[in-house]
Amino acid sequence: MQIILQVNNLTKSFGGLMAVNGLSLVVQDDSIHALIGPNGSGKTTTINLLSGVLKADNGDIIFENKNINQMQTYEIARMGMIRTFQNLKLFNSMTVIENVMIGGHSATKIGLLRFLYDINSAKKEEKSLRERAEEVLEFIGLYNVKDETVKNLPYGKQKMVELGRTLMNNPKLLLLDEPAAGLNPTERQDLVKLLEKLFNNGTRLFLIEHNMDVVMNICKRITVLNFGKKIAEGSPKEIQENEEVIKAYLGDKYKKR
Ligand code: ADP
Ligand code: MG
Repeated sequence: MQIILQVNNLTKSFGGLMAVNGLSLVVQDDSIHALIGPNGSGKTTTINLLSGVLKADNGDIIFENKNINQMQTYEIARMGMIRTFQNLKLFNSMTVIENVMIGGHSATKIGLLRFLYDINSAKKEEKSLRERAEEVLEFIGLYNVKDETVKNLPYGKQKMVELGRTLMNNPKLLLLDEPAAGLNPTERQDLVKLLEKLFNNGTRLFLIEHNMDVVMNICKRITVLNFGKKIAEGSPKEIQENEEVIKAYLGDKYKKR
């Protein structure tokens, strides 16, 4: 077992509101880790801090033994920690493969400027991006719709496209903000299968999720937030039996009788 990500005393406030309040946690490489909690409890803010979108007021973020507090989003992404957004950020009128290819641009050898005027290098670059995108689409099971316009796909497939985009750079750790939100039960099952396949393939996963069927099925370790503070951490069984978690979030449906 190895520690991939360690968070110590992470704190972020907006005005007087403590969105994340002294959060410490450890993501290990041996299990899929979930972050759960009521709306407004600081989950998305946590991912924004981890991915460098927001800077913390206090605390340390250590990724692969390196303190990344002061790093920019692209530097963190280059180190292998990549996130998705709660709301889809796809280009609707572009095709599936084009949307996936965009994920690889930050890793391309030639800069964007040169890409624009150096036609030969750009063509080579595009070819390798396209080949990588085809591999990714094969992996996520969307190769057969690669030339479809994104807006013509069902929502569940659109979310997979976004996931595919993050895979272009071979992430070590993926931060997923509500990957199953808006999916129907069949789509949720497909997502669970894909996440397991990704994990087994070596990508570590840290996910915010409200669908307890997804969380309890694939996450061996769960951290629970309430009002920005960690109120519990443990296995699915421990979390389902935790009185404070039941009261704050799960409700009676998970209470063991
Ligand atoms: P969650 O993802 O758990 O639903 P968030 O992390 O989005 O919660 O939000 C935590 C709290 O911080 C909420 O009260 C929210 O309104 C507030 N918040 C989040 N982002 C901002 C922001 N950029 N400016 C001000 N308040 C924010
Ligand atoms: Mg959120």
